[in-house]
Amino acid sequence: MSSAVVVGSGPNGLAAAAALSRRGVSVTVLEASDEIGGGTRTSEGILPGLLHDHCAAIHPMAAGSKFLRDLGLEEHGLVWRLPEVDCAHPLDGGGAGVLHRSVEETARGLGPDGEAWRRLFRRPASWYDELSDDILGPLVRVPRHPVRLARFGAPTLLPATVLARLFRTEEGRALFAGVAAHAFHPLGRPLSSAIGMGILTAGHANGWAVAEGGSQAITRAMAAVVRANGGRIETGVRVTSAAELPASDVVLYDLAPAAVADILGNRLPARVARAYRRFRHGPAAFKVDFAVEGGVPWTAEAARRAGTLHLGGPLAEVVANERAVHRGRMPERPFVLVGQQYLADPTRSVGDVHPLYTYAHVPHGYTGDATEAIVRQVERFAPGFRDRVVGLQVRSAAAFAEDNPNYVGGDILTGAKDVRQLLLGPRPGVQPYDVGVPGHFICSAATPPGPGAHGMCGAHAAARALRWLGTEA
Ligand SMILES: Cc1cc2nc3c(=O)[nH]c(=O)nc-3n(C[C@H](O)[C@H](O)[C@H](O)COP(=O)(O)OP(=O)(O)OC[C@H]3O[C@@H](n4cnc5c(N)ncnc54)[C@H](O)[C@@H]3O)c2cc1C
Repeated sequence: MSSAVVVGSGPNGLAAAAALSRRGVSVTVLEASDEIGGGTRTSEGILPGLLHDHCAAIHPMAAGSKFLRDLGLEEHGLVWRLPEVDCAHPLDGGGAGVLHRSVEETARGLGPDGEAWRRLFRRPASWYDELSDDILGPLVRVPRHPVRLARFGAPTLLPATVLARLFRTEEGRALFAGVAAHAFHPLGRPLSSAIGMGILTAGHANGWAVAEGGSQAITRAMAAVVRANGGRIETGVRVTSAAELPASDVVLYDLAPAAVADILGNRLPARVARAYRRFRHGPAAFKVDFAVEGGVPWTAEAARRAGTLHLGGPLAEVVANERAVHRGRMPERPFVLVGQQYLADPTRSVGDVHPLYTYAHVPHGYTGDATEAIVRQVERFAPGFRDRVVGLQVRSAAAFAEDNPNYVGGDILTGAKDVRQLLLGPRPGVQPYDVGVPGHFICSAATPPGPGAHGMCGAHAAARALRWLGTEA
C-alpha cells in the first residue's frame, strides 16, 4: 500500500488527503494548529452559540464543484444555504448595485446596464460546469473546452477598469468593481478582471452559498472522508523540517512556497528555492467580527437581504483605494467586505443577536488598527449601526499571519495575484504542483487555481502524486 503525508489541513490539504485516501493511499495529515480547517475554521469568540467564520465565508465555487460533489461531503453533514440576494454594493444616497443568482434578475435590476450584464454573463454561467474544468485548474495547459474558454477568457484579459466601462450606471460599475476587488490587486492592471469574472460566473451558476453551521462544515466533511478511508489527522504538529516527517512515498505541502523551501532546505533544487523565496505576497486583511442586535440597519433595502456586501463607494473610489493598499498606504475609507451569512443560515445567530463578518483591505503587514475605519464604512451605508453592536473581536494583519503562517504579512490569498503568479503559480513551468524533489508536491492556494475553499489546488496536486505513484487519478 502506498503512503502519503500531507502537511497542513486547510481545504486544499484535506482535499488532497481525501482524494488520495479514496484511491487506497494510506494518508497522514499533520496540522500545526489545534484545530483542522485552516482558512475554513469557525468559532464562537464573542457569545456562546454565535458563529463567526475565521476566514472563508462565501462559496460560489465550492458549492458547484464537481470534485467536492464527488467526495460526497453532504453525507458527512455539509449543507449549502443560499441568501435571498447574493451581493449588494450600496452607494451614498441609498442606491445599490444588486447581484442575484439569476443573470436575468440582476440585469433587470441594473436597468440601462442590464444588456451589458447579460452579454457578459448569460452564456458563461450556463456553461459553468464545463468551464470549471478549465478555469479551476492550471491555466497553462490544453483546455478541455477551448471555444467556451476563449469566449469566457477574452474579457478576463482586460483590466477591471476597462471592463467596468461597459456599464454606464454607477450601480453597474461599482457592482462589477467590488467583485473584481476580491483579487486584492490594482484594478487597472491586465487580468485584474479574471478573479472577479470567475466569482461572478460561478455565482450566477451556483449562488453565493454559505455552509450551514459555518465554513468549518466543509473541512469537517472532508476530514470525515479521509478518516472513513482509513486516513489519520494529527493536530498540534508544526512541521519545520523534512527530517521530522514520517516515512512515506509522497509528501504534499498545503503551505506557502517559502515555508516549503524552509522545510526542504537544500534538498530543493536551487532554481525552485529561489522562485519560492521570491514568491510575492499581496496586501492584507484586517478583520472585525461583530455581534449585532437586531441586524444592520442598511439604508438600501436589498442590502438587508444580501449575504455579502461590498462597501467601497463608486468605481473611482474602489480603484483608488485598491491602488493605495497595493502601494502600502492605508486609505481613510478602505474597501470593506461584509458577510451576513446568518441570513441564509440562521443557526449562526443567538436570538436576535447576529454575527456580522467584516474585513478591510489594508497594506501588506499593516500594523495599525482598522476597527474604526470599518465601523465608519458600515455607518456610512447603515446609520445607527454602531448603537446595535453588543460585542466585537478583532483579527489584525499580524494576527492572521500568526494564526496561519500561510497568510504571510496578512495576505489572505496566499500570494499576490499578478499575471505571472495567477497563470503559473509559485514558479515558472507547466507543473505548478511539482516542487522538484521526487515525490514532493505543493498543494496550497499559492498554486492554480488559487485561493478559495474549493479544494482544487489539493485535487490537482493529489492527481500529480497519484500519477507519480503509478495510480492514475
Ligand atoms: C479573511 C479571509 C476571508 C476569506 N474569504 C473567502 C471566501 O469568502 N471564500 C473563499 O472561498 N475563500 C476565502 N478566503 C480564502 C480561503 O480561506 C483560502 O484560500 C483557503 O483557506 C486556502 O486553503 P489552503 O488549504 O491552501 O490553506 P489554508 O486554509 O491556509 O490552510 C493551511 C493549513 O496549514 C497549516 N500549517 C501551516 N504551516 C504549517 C506547518 N509548518 N506544519 C503543519 N501545518 C501547517 C495551517 O495551520 C493551516 O491549517 C478567505 C481567507 C481569509 C483569511
